[in-house]
Amino acid sequence: MILTSLMRIALTRSLRPFVFDNVNDKQMALEGMDGLGLYVHIPFCRELCSFCPYCKVPYDVDLATSYKSALLKEIDLVGKGINGVRRATSLYFGGGTPALMAEDLPEIITRLKRYFEITGGVGVEIHPQDIDEVTLHRLRAAGVSMVSVGVQSFDKSCLASLGRTWEPLEDKLKLVSDQGFDVIDVDLIFALPGQTRDTLTSDINLAFQNGATQVSTYPFIDFTFARNAFQPISARAKRKMLRILHDQCKGNNLERTSVWTFAKKGTGKYSSVTRDYFLGFGVSATSLLKDTFKINTFSIEEYRKRVYEESLPTALTLRFTKRQRAVYFLFWSAYSLRIDPNRFESIIGIPMQEMFGFEFLLAEKLGFLRKDAAGYELTERAATLYHDIEQVYTRAYIDAMWSTLRLRAFPEKLTLS
Ligand code: SF4
Repeated sequence: MILTSLMRIALTRSLRPFVFDNVNDKQMALEGMDGLGLYVHIPFCRELCSFCPYCKVPYDVDLATSYKSALLKEIDLVGKGINGVRRATSLYFGGGTPALMAEDLPEIITRLKRYFEITGGVGVEIHPQDIDEVTLHRLRAAGVSMVSVGVQSFDKSCLASLGRTWEPLEDKLKLVSDQGFDVIDVDLIFALPGQTRDTLTSDINLAFQNGATQVSTYPFIDFTFARNAFQPISARAKRKMLRILHDQCKGNNLERTSVWTFAKKGTGKYSSVTRDYFLGFGVSATSLLKDTFKINTFSIEEYRKRVYEESLPTALTLRFTKRQRAVYFLFWSAYSLRIDPNRFESIIGIPMQEMFGFEFLLAEKLGFLRKDAAGYELTERAATLYHDIEQVYTRAYIDAMWSTLRLRAFPEKLTLS
């Protein structure tokens, strides 16, 4: 907490905390945003994993059908404020387990296309349990070009620590690979109890050997509201595991595409968070606009009520100061290991050098950044520091926000310092 507060104060040069209010804007202000990503949250899972912090409930076909109708309504509510058709660079379905609604995705995508021209790929998260030919064909027929498979680990005892049952996944991944998706991401968790250098490198190798074009690795984070039976390992041990992942991928000629992702060279990226602007639909979905950040209610019932009352289901809104918005941009750019000063200026409206000239010079001198023709690249040292900071940020901000929203559908206010 202290670290994130100090960082926030240093970079925003203000003692002002992040204050979210519940004033519900009538429309999303989408003007002047180039490079808009779309996200749709599907909050249903067959089983609820004990470690998982995301907004989800057990799958129920009737609930899913009524949720889809509400989603279409929310899309219309946002869409009616748009003049003509807006360009969107990508569409991601996350959850939960969106593949459980594979039959409904074409209708949702068609509705979005009334208001958005989707110029990039369509991505969907899928649980290994749901991989079969019928579901994969449905996804392909709906125009899905990228999938992210929530493997977490190929190792039996690592999966057991997460409360998951082991099954051989090689054939399932082969089935995914045969469908011709442009991007196949495999999600893995590292820093699990009992995980060794061998199990970790074997996880990475198995993912790529069985068709992954990208692997997203996440250090185990113990959310306060999760039901984990064990404590996270030390920060030092986590760093060591990240280093093993990095070295293994480098040795296999893979490219590091963000702090926690590695990919085959020349392949596309699966990433719903590294967008300059994004618009989220569904419960718990977030939107990042020119100068605001919004998050929808976590309650499916209240979400439905709100949209049928013709109101946006926003639970909390943060109205950024210019400096806060700049820090937000830099934080997520840094996650992708590159900072583009031109994008900074086009989003913030001020040259990056003018706002952060001293900080960038210092970071270069300390060996955290390398300057090149396209801007700045984070060094490996900076990536390791980011790995530490991101986990602190997750506990201080994301955990605090989600904890509040799990308890109250529309809190009056939230202050994160
Ligand atoms: S990890 Fe995936 S399948 Fe498990 S509860 Fe979370 S979203 Fe659902």
